Amino acid sequence: MHKKFDHLAIEKKWQKSWKDANLYAVGKRDLQKEKRYLLVELPYPSGDLHIGHWYAFGVPDILVRHERMQGKQVLYPLGFDAFGMPAENAAIKRGLNPKEWTYKNMDTMRAQLDQMGNAFSTDMTVSTTDPEYFKWTQWMFGEFFKKGIAYRGEGIVNWCPHDHTILANEQVLSDDTCERCGTKVEKRTMASWKLAITKYADRLIDDLDTVQWPSYIKELQRNWIGRSKGAEIPFTLSNGDKVTIFTTRPDTLYGVSFLVLAPEHPLLKTLPVENTEEVQKYVDEATQKDEVDRLNATKEKTGVKLEGVSAIHPLTGESVSVFVADYVLGNYGTGAVMGVPAHDERDNAFAKKYALAITPVISPITGVPQENPEHRKSIVAIVYNPRTDTYMTINWKEQQQTLFIGGGIEEGEDVIAAAIREIQEETQCTNVVYKAQTMPIHHHYFAHAKNVAREIDAVGLLFELADDEETATQLDGAEEGKFEAVWKDAKTIEREVIDELHRTVWEMLVDGKVHSGAGTLINSGEHTGLSSEDAKAAITQATGGKETSTYRLRDWSIGRQRYWGVPVPIVYSPEGEAHPVPLEHLPWTLPTDVDFRPTGEAPLAKSQELRDRVTNIFGEGWTPEVETMDTFVDSSWYFLRYFDAQNGGAPSSLAAQKDWMPVDLYMGGSEHTTLHLLYSRFWQKVLFDMGLATENEPYTKRINRGLILGPDGQKMSKSKGNVVNPDEHVERVGADTVKMYLAFMGNYGEAANYPFDLGGIAGIRRFLERVNGIREHVKEEESKDMTRLLHKTIAKVSTDILELKFNTAISALMIFVNAAEKEGLAQESYETFLKLMAPFAPHLTEELWHELDKTDFIHEQSFPTFDASLAKDDVVTIGVQVAGKRRGDITIAPDTTQEEALTAALTNPEIAKYIEGAPKKVIYVAGRILNIIP
Ligand SMILES: [Zn+2]
Repeated sequence: MHKKFDHLAIEKKWQKSWKDANLYAVGKRDLQKEKRYLLVELPYPSGDLHIGHWYAFGVPDILVRHERMQGKQVLYPLGFDAFGMPAENAAIKRGLNPKEWTYKNMDTMRAQLDQMGNAFSTDMTVSTTDPEYFKWTQWMFGEFFKKGIAYRGEGIVNWCPHDHTILANEQVLSDDTCERCGTKVEKRTMASWKLAITKYADRLIDDLDTVQWPSYIKELQRNWIGRSKGAEIPFTLSNGDKVTIFTTRPDTLYGVSFLVLAPEHPLLKTLPVENTEEVQKYVDEATQKDEVDRLNATKEKTGVKLEGVSAIHPLTGESVSVFVADYVLGNYGTGAVMGVPAHDERDNAFAKKYALAITPVISPITGVPQENPEHRKSIVAIVYNPRTDTYMTINWKEQQQTLFIGGGIEEGEDVIAAAIREIQEETQCTNVVYKAQTMPIHHHYFAHAKNVAREIDAVGLLFELADDEETATQLDGAEEGKFEAVWKDAKTIEREVIDELHRTVWEMLVDGKVHSGAGTLINSGEHTGLSSEDAKAAITQATGGKETSTYRLRDWSIGRQRYWGVPVPIVYSPEGEAHPVPLEHLPWTLPTDVDFRPTGEAPLAKSQELRDRVTNIFGEGWTPEVETMDTFVDSSWYFLRYFDAQNGGAPSSLAAQKDWMPVDLYMGGSEHTTLHLLYSRFWQKVLFDMGLATENEPYTKRINRGLILGPDGQKMSKSKGNVVNPDEHVERVGADTVKMYLAFMGNYGEAANYPFDLGGIAGIRRFLERVNGIREHVKEEESKDMTRLLHKTIAKVSTDILELKFNTAISALMIFVNAAEKEGLAQESYETFLKLMAPFAPHLTEELWHELDKTDFIHEQSFPTFDASLAKDDVVTIGVQVAGKRRGDITIAPDTTQEEALTAALTNPEIAKYIEGAPKKVIYVAGRILNIIP
């Protein structure tokens, strides 16, 4: 029955009690207990706790409490990532100092977090704006500088004209807009501070194999880093200049018919081309286009031939045309590529447009290798009838296979003659016109008609029926009527021809597909006959090139021309040389005499206080660096500081890291997959290499949680008026209800989005009122069914919590409450149920626990364990299908035999009416399903 409760009084009371008892302080590492480091991404102090924060911190609290009740020592800390542009922009708007604004927000949010009633590790927190924190951010930066990981370099950067600062590549969205403000990002060439994340590109990819993350998150990081293995190959140009191209397919080198330089390629400025004006115009236009546009596969490729300049093929010595084309990016590989039109769709389209040679150099390999094959040369012939728009196929009756015309080449016969002979033999057509042929295709198969394994070199040929040829429709072939020749349209052929060789021939000759896969080298001089794999190394070596990889990832641009961040701790000597600020002068604090409104010039450049500080410490002529660091630097190592936040001698001691690292489960937003999640892995690896971290990878498991949408199913935004304010709901129905409602929305481990539903939250509140009323159903003795249900519920809730399926765990608890209200339950079961509920509704269960005159906290109890024998069913209800359609249920013992189950099914007239006589077949899975085929 429903029993109302005063959530405000209850929640306030227990929050205070827990705090007074210091219940959630973690204290020193207790080696008697297993450790669990459960981490949530630390929030940005934007002003108010929103519903997303509740989802991010409130729901995992269920897991935290469950693990604590299982006797583990759980670290569940929370801090603030408090530097950065949003606070700075908000402060400017209000005419405040960003520091003032940020610290006020943190106070507000701390009070709101208290209302959540979470089991946060109260003794472990950080704020990235705390000087004792950023002192170590700066110290590590200085160490990175000494190792060449941090450097100041000139290059093309992303510039947000609205925020007046550089952005990292990761902060620019796919449509070339700023992730913070949505403004179109500009490209500028300027110097700024960077971190050499590209040095770690291979490890950032390869070490993903060592962590237990969902594969889609790993794939997103791999794609972002974008490694292509390949080779750099040197070409000499006709004027003597050298150009090095990057290719992932050095095995196709003999098929090169042109080179392409990116519009950004430096050689374009100096090469003695004859059509300078045309080239310059093209380059100017191309560099203004964005990458997405340039790489758009569906757009026609454009380019300009460099007149008067050619390249010399490094192996054949032949002359090769050189183009500039915008589909090659300046930062891909070496900014120059080779065009192999026979084996690349894009190069093929380009070659056709500019009438360049198309030379096949890779022969495809199809089929599955057989034992003891017979070797021979063969043809596959496709004959096209233009009058009916159909193609000749051979239907093999016994094999039920549709092929084109095929056969062997006889001694001394050329391929076209062989094909014409086969066409005549199999179809009696004689008057055909040769159109085209493929390169040889290496094919393995078993010839059923001849009962022999074969390994063949086949050439595909296309013919057209001549005008005056009779087209007999059903020509019966030879070989005792084993096959017939049939004209079929392209659609039918696409569906029916599945043989790999014949399909490949069709795709090449009719669809015009290029063979872009591996194979055996042909037309490749001394390298002819090698496999693609072997040829890659051999050809690279023969040209004097080198095997290498290229990456999409760029070095991480961290310098910001803004105020509210960690100052880059660098000073310049009178000679202009950069020196890290020594540890004794850290933290290197922000000056206060600054107009921090953004103008494009770094605010710190205008600070007299900073200049004076540098002169006083380092001497006359020394000057400060004026860039501040992006906030993603601050959050790259915070998880190492939580458990050693008081350490005055190091960012995080190795001993403390041994106690707590790695993070066992990291829960965060999907928007950080290729930002924070990548940056922090990189930072960790640098620390690991420097002996400052114990782990090579920081996070064992990771989940990206979903997003809570507005009640209208749209992303929440002030302008849409669909923002859900959690404080209102906490006031109205209580923190337990809000948290449990969010947990009930769906599987927490899946990044799905859920609309906030007011009806749903009311439903959870009513459920908690029923929980509050269960005590009135407690009786002396409970039924066996009730005991069984309790143990089943424990089993279900325990496994679901570990899999983050809080929603189905709550469903199981609801089923239990239904039964308890109907049938009543024993006192012991009631107490067990309260403990099961405790992680989900921590305040209410604590209250109910104490109503039983308990003196300790419910959250200090052990989580219930279940007895498998008690959880076992006496009977189960299983579905019965007749011919695959569900016709009814039967209720039987779980270990009933098939015969007994069938008998039970046949006694049910609703099922029996579909079955006449003895069934043909019965499929029975005990405890699951019975399927009868009548
Ligand atoms: Zn912006």
